[in-house]
Amino acid sequence: SNSILAYCRPGYEVDTGNELTRLTAARGCYGYPLMKAGEAFVTYQFQAPAAAQEFIGQTAVDDTVFARQLFAVIGKITIEDTADRIGPVLALLDEQPPPRCGTLMVEYPDTEDGKTLAKLCRKFAVPLRQALRGKGWLTAKEQLNLPALHVFFVAGDCCYVGISQPRQRSPFANGICRLKFPPKAPSRSTLKLEEALLTMLSEQERNEICRPGARAVDLGACPGGWTYQLVIREMHVEAVDNGKMDADLMATGLVDYRAEDGFKYRPQLGHVELLVCDMIEQPDRVAELMAAWLVKQWATHAIFNLKLPMKRRCETVYAAIQAVEAKLASANIKATIKTRHLYHNRDEVTVAVLRKS
Ligand code: SAM
Repeated sequence: SNSILAYCRPGYEVDTGNELTRLTAARGCYGYPLMKAGEAFVTYQFQAPAAAQEFIGQTAVDDTVFARQLFAVIGKITIEDTADRIGPVLALLDEQPPPRCGTLMVEYPDTEDGKTLAKLCRKFAVPLRQALRGKGWLTAKEQLNLPALHVFFVAGDCCYVGISQPRQRSPFANGICRLKFPPKAPSRSTLKLEEALLTMLSEQERNEICRPGARAVDLGACPGGWTYQLVIREMHVEAVDNGKMDADLMATGLVDYRAEDGFKYRPQLGHVELLVCDMIEQPDRVAELMAAWLVKQWATHAIFNLKLPMKRRCETVYAAIQAVEAKLASANIKATIKTRHLYHNRDEVTVAVLRKS
């Protein structure tokens, strides 16, 4: 069908569409997004033949801000008789045989309507898997280094079928990294930093940056959800905020609480390994502050949230990131910057700036 499908948070369809337009244009391939507000997914129709396959092969979900999952669409199916949902899927694949896939993901949009399809998806996956194996389109054992076949139900009688590539896709069902709330954490915000650490850093980066004894600064720290993530990794944290800090965290002896303005604060010993920031402020102000810390070598790496305005969210994020990139480049600092609208984020995105050694 020469289109791709992106899952996103409901309400972020326009932002996701804008981002796809931006990313495809940057690769010199053109088309247009199609979406409906609140549907939690966007399709993007390409013009040039085979452009969808090519784009999906070159673009990792992690390289985007708003997409939770991306796949190249083989076709959209309307199921006439819901007593047989497998037949139409197999008929489509008979017409357009997929590559040999290593896994099947039967998924649904992250909406109230979508959630009602969860059980159907679970039940449908079992016989479909068998049928796909029978046809030789799916390996007998799951092989995550091969393409994945996606069946994305948007209604009980309608689904998209498509293919994602192993290193480019999200490993999570529905593109959602679910986490259990740690009972001792002082706020639900803790899950944002946990998800960022788990999905935006490699295991090696996580172990190097968040090592026991390393120092961190947390700007806008109260009540301490982010500080908690650093403390459980045995880091020393300078927690900066005028608010009230969690008493259990203070009792660890790893937290140095400072009731100061995050925009004026300087690290106590001149330098820390990691700067984190969750202050509610304008994205351009936060971006500028983060870049300044990195340029002054007050912090080696930074992870921070940008709170999004109501409108032009995609443009605001890209402008803030470009400002950080420009500041780092002019100081000759080499870093990788990842920006993601995480599952645990609401109207905000998380940015990880990791210095290359
Ligand atoms: N990350 C925290 C957690 O996990 O518990 C939640 C942070 S909350 C979203 C934002 C915090 O930023 C508030 O506690 C607020 O007091 C603080 N804040 C806002 N502006 C600040 C400033 N200029 N300096 C220091 N803290 C600030």
